[in-house]
Amino acid sequence: MEKLEIPVLDLRPEMDELWDELNEAIQGVLRSGQFIMGPNVKAFEEEVAQYLGVKHAVGLNSGTDALVIALRALGIGPGDEVITTPFTFFATAEAVSLVGATPVFVDIDPANFNLDVNSIEAAISTRTKVILPVHLYGCPADMGPILEVAADHGLKVLEDAAQAFGAEYQGRKAGAMGIAGCFSFFPSKNLGACGDGGLLVTNDPNIAELASALRIHGSRHKYCNEMVGYNSRLDELQAAILRVKLKYVDVWNDLRRQAARVYQDGLGVCRNIVTPAMCEGHVFHQYTIRVKGNRRGKVREALEADGIDSMVYYPHALHQLPVYSSAQVNLPEAERAVSEALSLPIWPSIERPKQLTVIRCVVEALAE
Ligand SMILES: *Cc1c(COP(=O)(O)O)cnc(C)c1O
Repeated sequence: MEKLEIPVLDLRPEMDELWDELNEAIQGVLRSGQFIMGPNVKAFEEEVAQYLGVKHAVGLNSGTDALVIALRALGIGPGDEVITTPFTFFATAEAVSLVGATPVFVDIDPANFNLDVNSIEAAISTRTKVILPVHLYGCPADMGPILEVAADHGLKVLEDAAQAFGAEYQGRKAGAMGIAGCFSFFPSKNLGACGDGGLLVTNDPNIAELASALRIHGSRHKYCNEMVGYNSRLDELQAAILRVKLKYVDVWNDLRRQAARVYQDGLGVCRNIVTPAMCEGHVFHQYTIRVKGNRRGKVREALEADGIDSMVYYPHALHQLPVYSSAQVNLPEAERAVSEALSLPIWPSIERPKQLTVIRCVVEALAE
């Protein structure tokens, strides 16, 4: 297929901007000959912990592994239930299943696509151990009431902050509010590596210590394997790259917010479009609108005809997928979201003329 003129995400400007710095960092690792658990991993863990305002950060090899290892470190396993959202990337629920526990899906809040805090209480059973909110698209979930419900019922809150690096809720960083938080450094995320990477953060020294052992085959001392763990270390090369990029993430998140405002100004008044709430602390990993009146397909086609890429995150709610359909629940807001959500091109340095082209195309497609 022909490459579209306006992609949904363009990572090249970021690479160009940091070309020399990244090359220097990469060559430094190559010269050092230390590729696993070297000084850059340690330094990155310290720097990122400080940035997020947490005591401990453990570098891992993906966001999915961060979720699995966090659940393991919390002692979650067969027989346990984890309350989460059905409107997220598959890995959120997959991690729960991978440790042998059961994801229990509750509906989302149509205002922000995140876990509906008013639906949580009814889903709590004697088996519930954890509430797992996702800060979807970079918009922080309503953590105040979530932490309150959890405290009332003796549950732990684990945050999936994979899409929300740098996002804030009432002055606290996403990922730093629950018992532990998980991040992904998949290249498309707001802080992205040049390959896979992940992170677990926590203020609890026991969780940090357990996670550090689990990432090296469950060993605290080499060859003294105390439990069955994983091979899930953050690469030294990726850590060196992430240390460079971490310095720019606030600027990039600000630029994303500015780009979101441009879309808001252009599309906010458009009939049949609901623009995302410009909530405080949102880092716009995605800029996701709703297209009402069964017109999403039409808008997508018009965009494609003009050389503009768009994405549907996500075309299926997790409880509708065959692997999770045995739960047999009706979650109308999540089901509506899968048919209306449309993510438009966004990256920190997206040019205004490109955004205006996108806006014009969407407006025209809906005017017909
Ligand atoms: C990307 C993502 C993950 C998984 O991260 P990987 O690094 O790709 O394993 C988990 N949850 C959400 C919400 C994500 O967007």
